[in-house]
Amino acid sequence: MELSVTIFLDPSGFLRRECPTCEKEFKYFHGHTESRPDDFLEPASYFCPYCGVPAGTDSWWTPAQLEYVQSTAAGPVMEELTRSLNKAFGGNRRGGISISFEIDKGSVSEPLAPPVDPDDMMIVEPPCHTFEPLKVAEDWLDPIHCLMCGEKFAV
Ligand SMILES: [Zn+2]
Ligand SMILES: [Zn+2]
Repeated sequence: MELSVTIFLDPSGFLRRECPTCEKEFKYFHGHTESRPDDFLEPASYFCPYCGVPAGTDSWWTPAQLEYVQSTAAGPVMEELTRSLNKAFGGNRRGGISISFEIDKGSVSEPLAPPVDPDDMMIVEPPCHTFEPLKVAEDWLDPIHCLMCGEKFAV
């Protein structure tokens, strides 16, 4: 079973992210910029632009995005669960017992509207990986770490 969830980008095409270590928000460019080399291999982890601590590429969801993903997934997951429970137990009349499962619609919350992302923060380009631009908080004055390699650079 696969679920696809749309997470909305900001008007410049950046995706909001939250560092699992320092819990600050930044954004990275979603998809590939034109200057990205074709043979560039995506790293297994990204470095936080603020604290420089690396984490797996799928560990950067913001609480709002997670909440949205969970609300979108809840309905389909419940339906799939019910279907497989019915396959396992339903219609088995041997011994005179028939069990069937139904979704209690009241227990599945309505999907939330996808988070809308404003065109905020400032765009920075790491000199070491110029094709992976970032957006960081405008009031951040310390050096920034490259998302790809963790190299520090001044804004
Ligand atoms: Zn961090
Ligand atoms: Zn770099």
